[in-house]
Amino acid sequence: MSKNDGVSRADFDQLMVPNYGPAGFIPVKGLGSRVWDQTGREFIDFAGGIAVNALGHCHPQLIDALTEQAGKLWHVSNVFTNEPALRLAKLITETTFAERVFFCNSGSEANEAAFKLARKYATDHFGAEKNKILACKNAFHGRSLFTVNVGGQPKYTEGFGPAPGGIAHFEYNNIESLMTAISDQTCAVVIEPVQGEGGVLPADRAFLEAARRLCDQHKALLIFDEVQTGVGRTGFLYAYQAYGVVPDILSSAKGMGGGFPIGAILTTARVAASFGVGTHGSTYGGNPLACSVAHKVLEIVNTEKVLAGVQNKHERLISGLHAINAKYAVFKTVRGMGLLLGCVLSDAYAGRAKDFLKAAEERQLMLLMAGPNVLRLAPSLLIDEIDLADGLARFDAAVADLLAAE
Ligand SMILES: *Cc1c(COP(=O)(O)O)cnc(C)c1O
Repeated sequence: MSKNDGVSRADFDQLMVPNYGPAGFIPVKGLGSRVWDQTGREFIDFAGGIAVNALGHCHPQLIDALTEQAGKLWHVSNVFTNEPALRLAKLITETTFAERVFFCNSGSEANEAAFKLARKYATDHFGAEKNKILACKNAFHGRSLFTVNVGGQPKYTEGFGPAPGGIAHFEYNNIESLMTAISDQTCAVVIEPVQGEGGVLPADRAFLEAARRLCDQHKALLIFDEVQTGVGRTGFLYAYQAYGVVPDILSSAKGMGGGFPIGAILTTARVAASFGVGTHGSTYGGNPLACSVAHKVLEIVNTEKVLAGVQNKHERLISGLHAINAKYAVFKTVRGMGLLLGCVLSDAYAGRAKDFLKAAEERQLMLLMAGPNVLRLAPSLLIDEIDLADGLARFDAAVADLLAAE
């Protein structure tokens, strides 16, 4: 599709800080759920940029939204407000529990803001000793020094000590564990409605309901990290709507901009009041380009057609994955919500998610993992039947290749 302009995958190892180990090919062009590499090989995209490309690649209406704004105004900073940010905030407050919105540029920044706001709110109303943040084991909340420590995966924090204080962990989907951990010193409990990086594990409704109740009893704020589950991913605009449990603060990012960087926290007017002028900020947060694109994403996703489509595609994918498993018996279970699915590898293949990704790459299928034992799928919310069927066929072939090579 394009000349390689003299750069190749081998250059990565010479030029980049080695914190990633990217696939062997370099994507250069995408359209819908198809992607082409430097040599013109065509891939089916079941990865969706890690649940970011909610509308696939190069959606014409997103190109229009971005280019129209690009010809008007790129950036003014928060010394001034701007129309796209206000329009986006209006749409978010009309479609969710939120009464106030804060914009930033990523999921980590959104969670960082959420945790700072929770501490500030607790200090304002109850005193500075109410500062403990409770999070789940195996949770993922970002990579900044604070958010990575709130996350409950030691592999991401080892070597980065000393760890910031005031953070403790309890077991996901375990009400007793939360009851034991929570106290009047707790300022916030943060939960992913579906643990994404931790293995695509949905919360039980009773667990989220208990968290809401316990937070109210202890005057702690309930924070839902919907960075991965938000913006239609679960078949609901936000996953809290699927559960009928409303948080005090919700963090959003990933799918929000459909590939353009943006993050946000959604909250109530009462909680928001603790972020007075000068207490928190971001140079780029609420950037007009990002907000114009995110507004269009939200308009498109928050329709009956798209959200119901997510549920239909969910069922189609689940049955396709079960059919693969009926042939090869490689999965223990297939789980998830909407178009965030995890195939948990059976004991015989435990720890080998990476091998499946490599086999998929050979068959020109882009897949994700969520830890070493789970294959993760997070395709475009608009993926069509042809691409779904084609992707599943490639998945099937990749598994067959892997087993044949054993
Ligand atoms: C990806 C993710 C984050 C971090 O988002 P970044 O944009 O990478 O900073 C935080 N929480 C959850 C649940 C995520 O999936």
